[in-house]
Amino acid sequence: MTQAALKSEQSGALMASPGPIMPVVADRAPDADPRQDILGLSREELRAALIAIGVPEKQANMRTKQIWHWVYHRGVTDFEDMANVAKDLRTELAAAFRISRPEVVEALYSEDGTRKYLLRFADGSEAEAVYIPEEDRGTLCISSQVGCTLNCRFCHTGTMRLVRNLTPAEIVAQMMLARDDLGEWPVSTDNRRVTNIVMMGMGEPLYNFDNVKKALHIIMDKEGIQLSRRRITLSTAGVVPMMERCGAEIGVNLAVSLHAVSNEIRDEIVPLNRKYRLEQLLEACAAYPGTHNARRITFEYIMLKGVNDSDADARELVRLLSSYKLPAKVNLIPFNPWPGSQYECSDPERIERFSDIVFQAGISAPIRTPRGRDIMAACGQLKSTTEKKRKSELLKEQAEKDRASVSGP
Ligand code: SAH
Repeated sequence: MTQAALKSEQSGALMASPGPIMPVVADRAPDADPRQDILGLSREELRAALIAIGVPEKQANMRTKQIWHWVYHRGVTDFEDMANVAKDLRTELAAAFRISRPEVVEALYSEDGTRKYLLRFADGSEAEAVYIPEEDRGTLCISSQVGCTLNCRFCHTGTMRLVRNLTPAEIVAQMMLARDDLGEWPVSTDNRRVTNIVMMGMGEPLYNFDNVKKALHIIMDKEGIQLSRRRITLSTAGVVPMMERCGAEIGVNLAVSLHAVSNEIRDEIVPLNRKYRLEQLLEACAAYPGTHNARRITFEYIMLKGVNDSDADARELVRLLSSYKLPAKVNLIPFNPWPGSQYECSDPERIERFSDIVFQAGISAPIRTPRGRDIMAACGQLKSTTEKKRKSELLKEQAEKDRASVSGP
């Protein structure tokens, strides 16, 4: 673990504000497979990599286009399936490259159609992705980091020890894997099952800006998966200095995990607020590219009993959003408790009332219905239950071994 990760872990206990703008987190450990992963390479990088293994420059553009099509339009993971690539080249490609998928440690299908994947990457670290089908869309919730440095008090991911950035390949791979599982290859522009992406899984995407940017550009590529930037939403807890670049360089919709309307309460539940104050955050929202053309920002607001859920809080929320002239939508999220969490979810009537106040002021404030409760689809829950299960399995195995050695000869 790096110094910064260690520091943020220690400071978590004291609730000090998290470290520098981009906390340095551990890099991925080297892979057992020495072949370069095609996933996560930009077109230019792929072209250069092909030239590096001896593909003549004259052919490089054409080969790049072909391989890109097989990988991102067809979902192929075996070079042998690339029918229009010469046999010899296919063999050379397979020696130098791979098209990876993370290992699926667990895939859970909820009765309501929600699918949750616990994925293990080459270095053994794990992250989650969740697919949520709705009437008119299917949203894939993608992780940007393993664990998280932010330590938001209500969020389970913040309690995990290991933190590292996911690589562009690992971010793209979550989309690829969901499409594999949903049988969505080749890409078709109508009848999509994954119609939207939210960068709302584990981690803070704006702390892993370069990798997230690269991955999303691959996902948006016109000759690949072709998901429009209008169908992608990046959620941040408020890394103010990176918000403008997010709009300018990625161009996706912004969601902000607001969760409180005063610095006092926000300091407590989103410790990042000690670094970037509520006013700075709302100013950055007002300056977000597109906001003045009525592109709405989504504000996420988690309903915590007795903490942030009063009528006065709702009215202050309305006042803040109007005083910064923000075209906004508020998502009210019932808190999903986890073992050891210190908060309770607000009562349903309280949430309704809060929602009514905001709606009456002309701001949409739907209450998000929890999805996939039967498979514990909320943030971080699958990962920790699986870990617990593994631990108890290990203990059981150990106990059996102990018994065997006691009763043995
Ligand atoms: N770091 C980014 C992305 C993580 S998504 C961000 O903070 O926006 C974080 C979202 O997960 C929160 O806005 C919240 O809506 C949701 N979340 C986290 N823990 C939750 C819990 N226990 N119950 C319900 N929603 C939770």
